[in-house]
Amino acid sequence: MIDWTPDPMEFTEGGPAGASIWLSSRAIAGMVEAAVKAGRCETGGILIGCYGADRWNADIVEATPRPRGSLSGWFWFQRSKHGLASLLEDRWRLGFHYLGEWHFHPGGAPTPSGPDIRAMRRIASDEVYRCPSPILVILGGQPKTRWSISATLFRDGHDISLEGKPVG
Ligand SMILES: [Zn+2]
Repeated sequence: MIDWTPDPMEFTEGGPAGASIWLSSRAIAGMVEAAVKAGRCETGGILIGCYGADRWNADIVEATPRPRGSLSGWFWFQRSKHGLASLLEDRWRLGFHYLGEWHFHPGGAPTPSGPDIRAMRRIASDEVYRCPSPILVILGGQPKTRWSISATLFRDGHDISLEGKPVG
């Protein structure tokens, strides 16, 4: 476990009608903890939460650790689906569902790569996920000391990178 509590973050598209995504302290801690464990390898999992009532907004309450059977190297990560169906069923009872994906770029910038973007577009059009506007959160840098987080929303065939700031 990490011994501190990160501030939650808010990511916004800009403009009054823009999308906004809330990333909880717990979700950030989950990603940082998984990245510390992964060392020089990519790691990742899924984002779980809910959508808000008015304009387009989402609350990410949880970022799950890497499912068993996932494959990773330095700068690539292939998430397995192991255990996710039952996990999502469990969260669904609490009112939460699948919102997207997260992964770690060890030592690098949290910028989505070409394969990252293609993978998210596939998820957006895959009916199994029931998530036409998935979110990609990337943690970059050194998880123990200096890290940064990006959030990209894939909506209507566009990838929208959102502006993030910590909410103290
Ligand atoms: Zn990536």
